Order: sequence, then C-alpha cells, then structure tokens
Amino acid sequence: MTQIEAEGALRAVDILERTLSEEYPQIELWAASAATVAYRHDAATTPRNAEPNPDVIGPLVAFPTNAEEVQAIVRAAAAHGVTVVPRGAGSGLAGGASATDQQLVITTERLNRILEVSPLDEVAVVEPGVINAALNEHLARTGLFYAPDPASFEISSIGGNIATNAGGLRCAKYGVTRESVLALDVVLADGSLVSVGHRSIKGVTGFDLTSLFVGSEGVLGIVVKATLRLRPIPVARQTLTAFFDSTVAGAEGLGAITLSPVRPSVIEFFDTATLTNIDAHSGTGLRDRGAALILIEIDGYGIHEQAADLTAALTRAGARVTVEPDIDAEQLWELRRHGRGFPAGHCFIGEDIAVPKSNLPRVYAAFAALEARFGVHISAVAHAGDGNLHPLLTIAADAGADQSVAPPELHEAATELVRIALALGGTVSGEHGIGTLKRDWAALELTERNLDIHRALKAALDPTHTLNPGKAF
Ligand SMILES: Cc1cc2nc3c(=O)[nH]c(=O)nc-3n(C[C@H](O)[C@H](O)[C@H](O)COP(=O)(O)OP(=O)(O)OC[C@H]3O[C@@H](n4cnc5c(N)ncnc54)[C@H](O)[C@@H]3O)c2cc1C
Repeated sequence: MTQIEAEGALRAVDILERTLSEEYPQIELWAASAATVAYRHDAATTPRNAEPNPDVIGPLVAFPTNAEEVQAIVRAAAAHGVTVVPRGAGSGLAGGASATDQQLVITTERLNRILEVSPLDEVAVVEPGVINAALNEHLARTGLFYAPDPASFEISSIGGNIATNAGGLRCAKYGVTRESVLALDVVLADGSLVSVGHRSIKGVTGFDLTSLFVGSEGVLGIVVKATLRLRPIPVARQTLTAFFDSTVAGAEGLGAITLSPVRPSVIEFFDTATLTNIDAHSGTGLRDRGAALILIEIDGYGIHEQAADLTAALTRAGARVTVEPDIDAEQLWELRRHGRGFPAGHCFIGEDIAVPKSNLPRVYAAFAALEARFGVHISAVAHAGDGNLHPLLTIAADAGADQSVAPPELHEAATELVRIALALGGTVSGEHGIGTLKRDWAALELTERNLDIHRALKAALDPTHTLNPGKAF
C-alpha cells in the first residue's frame, strides 16, 4: 500500500498510474513523487537558488516507446480525467512543459529513433525525442543537414522544436522550424492518430494542418513522427565579425547587410551591454575590439566574393570587418551560445520579442528610457537576420529574496518593452512560445476575435481540455 492509499486520499493521477501499470506493464512509469520533481519545470521555470523542498512532489511520468503506447496512455488519461503535458527535453523557455503533481507528463525521451533518411527525396523521418544535434550527426555522412538550429540544439528535441516552431541562428537564411517540416503524425486528445502534410516538397490538398500543429505547444496534439526537409551541407562556411563604435551604429549598420546582395546564413547582433556581460562572464576581450558586434556566417559557393561584398557594404556603414580564422570563429559561436551568463545576486526576465528588422534600431534606442524609468538594466542579443531579440532585464535582488520572483518594477519594465515591440509591428514571442510565462503578454497581442479562433480550434481537437491546459494562449 502506498503512503497516499494509507492516507485514504487516492487521487485521479494515482488511480491512472495503477490502471496503466496493470494494463500496459511494458510502459515505464514513474509515480508522482519526489523522484519526478524535475518534470514540474522546464529550463525557464526551474527554481533558482532555492533549497529543494521535500514536501513537493512531481507529476506522474510515462515513457512510451511507440505511437500506439502514446495513444493508449492518452486514452487512459482522458478516461480518468487527468490532463496530459507532452514533453520533449524540457529545455523550453516559456513554461510550456511545466506540470503539476496532479498531471501526467508524456515524455518523448524513449521515442528517439531516426526511422529513415532519403537523400533522393531530401527528407528524414524521425520520432519526436531525437535530439536536434543527434540528427545532424547522423546526417553528416549523407552530405545533408537539418537547418533549424536553436542555440539549444545539443539538448532540445525535434518534437519540442516542432511544438515551439523553434528558431535558431541559421534561420536568417533557411527559415524557422516550420519551413523544414513536411508532414507529421499526431496523437489527438481522444487517442486517435492523424497523419497530416506531405512527403513531397509541394502539397496543398486540404488545409495546412501541419503548420497548425507546428508551434501549437502541445495544446492540440502530441507529435509522434515527423517528416523533415533536409538541405545539402554548404560547400564552404566562413565567419565575419563587424565591430562598431556604439550600439546605435551597430544596429543601424544591420541595414547594410539587408541592402547588400549577400544573404548570410547567420546574423547575430550584440549590443554594448551584452559584450560587457560576455567579457565579464567568459574572460574575453570583445569590448577591446568595439562597442557593438555583428557576428555573421556566410555559406555556399563563391564564399570569397560574398565575404568581399559584405565587407565593402559593412565598412561603408562604419564597421571594422574581419574574416575570422576557423579557430577564432568557433570560439565566437560558442560565446554566442553559452558566453552570456546571468549576473549573480540579480532577478532577471528574459524576453523573446521580434520586430520587422528595419525597426531593430528603434528597440535598442528605447532601452535607455526604460532603464531610467524603472531602475533596471537591459542588454539584448538579437537574431538580427529575422528581427528577433532576446532582451535580458535585470535588477539587483534584495538580500535573502527569492531571485526567481521578479519584483513589480522589473515586470513593468518588461511589459513596457513588449508594448514597444508591438507598437513597432512586432510580436511577444519570436521563437520560444507563450507557455505559461507569456500568456498575459500574448493577450496584449491577440485580439478577442483571434482568441475566439484559438478556442474554437482547441474545442474541435480537444473538447475535454486534456492536452496541456492553460498553455500557449
Ligand atoms: C540555452 C538555451 C538556448 C536556447 N536557444 C533557443 C533558440 O536559439 N531558439 C529557440 O527557438 N529556442 C531556444 N531555446 C528554447 C528551447 O530549447 C526550445 O523552445 C526548444 O524547441 C524546446 O525543445 P524541448 O525538446 O526542450 O521541448 P520542451 O521544453 O520539453 O517542450 C516545449 C513545448 O513543446 C511541447 N512539446 C514537446 N514535445 C512535444 C511533442 N512531441 N508533441 C507536442 N508537443 C510537444 C511541450 O508541451 C512544451 O509546450 C533555448 C533554450 C535554452 C535552455
């Protein structure tokens, strides 16, 4: 007899666990317990600097190994009135995979097979738990690659990338995840399995349901198989740095890339505060080279011509441009992904706003007034090729305060920055999704009629609100 039974308080989730273990003994289950606390959170909601609380338990967690098992688990959960949280690798930054101890998490960790690679069709068929980097390692010998490369590519799953419509560094040239997903198999809330999309590059029969599921944050269905578009690995890649004398000059300089004939695969922008953060965290000397940086990757044929044209365009815009040797390039990309760090003893909010790229300079120009008004500090790195910024707003934490709880002035500054992005024709989230953390901000962007459509789609696919309730909109 479990402790819960002994206490006479058998909860729906515990009855579900008993049913699943009796009917499907082959499916690995972890009971809602202290051992599953990590499944309460994603990367954004994991408590920081907090002592583990022994009274807190996590959700029931199921580890299916094929689509039929996912179907069976969803059916059983719906029958027991237990809501389901789909989960990939838990690297999300919006709280989308967070779960309570009353919920069932279906993790795709064991649904991780690469089922097929077809060089002639330029597709790979994969299960959702495949880690993004593992797919590209597997593809390397075929001369093909899967383009969407979130900075979390080493730790995030293809299913999570699809459910968040993840962006990444190379999206400047190759598009976000949606542009690389051709077809999906999805388990719906009633346990049925639906195939949507086409293996061919073209296909317009019926509504574009594939695009509907991409970016739907596990609210409409659980992706159990994906047919992905691949591209040839470029014949050459080269990294360029363009250093400017100020954030304003660098942000304005981005337009020179857009107006040039060159289409870099990656265009990342670092403002002065971000370069200072990286130097402090990583011991580098980027600020010695300038006060703002555009870090660029070009690829494909004619690499030297591309580098020359871009150098000329950026030099005219006031930059000091260097074609970086491979070893330095590697370090710079590593710094972009992991070099920023978070200031100790501070509360922070990370944002994911996006604006039409011509408006990037206006967003950076707005920081100073927000800093003065709210007493916060703002730095922002941007996937500048697609107008997507990650502002980091920080404020010193009071001694002994829980640093994961943002004080009101930090929250107000962040909301004001969201309003500025919206006023500039932008959006609350460029790539991380809404999850639980950005629902208030999404309400600033989505009109009531727009929300009605979201609710109607949810009701059509999941009338009992079984899948990931309270997330995404
Ligand atoms: C250091 C770091 C860097 C990052 N950089 C980027 C970046 O450059 N670009 C970017 O876009 N994101 C980035 N992220 C955020 C995160 O990695 C992405 O959102 C990623 O796509 C989440 O994948 P995951 O497998 O971890 O999904 P999870 O966090 O497990 O889940 C994310 C959402 O997807 C749903 N979900 C997961 N699997 C499925 C499935 N099979 N079917 C249906 N729904 C599912 C979940 O319910 C949840 O709503 C970064 C995160 C970190 C920690």
